[in-house]
Amino acid sequence: MKTEIRHICEICRYESKSYNEIFDCECNCLGLNEEEMLEYIKLRKATKEAMGRLSNERNPALLDASDRAVAAELEFERKHGLKDYAKAVADNG
Ligand SMILES: [Zn+2]
Repeated sequence: MKTEIRHICEICRYESKSYNEIFDCECNCLGLNEEEMLEYIKLRKATKEAMGRLSNERNPALLDASDRAVAAELEFERKHGLKDYAKAVADNG
């Protein structure tokens, strides 16, 4: 069996086998430079992880941590004018 890895731009749905190509596409689609994109990826990962922990165990400290992770991501999106990004991703499924 041959398994192919495809990367898909979350904004315009462009597909490529090259991670770098899609990384560049997402930078262009979002209007972020490479450094900003890496920061954004880190923020989104932190939110996902915080949400994952929250679904396993609910306690005030975890709730607080996930609130902070979400707030940091939203602040980044606001600062860079990405408010439509979450909607685009949701629309694309
Ligand atoms: Zn794109």
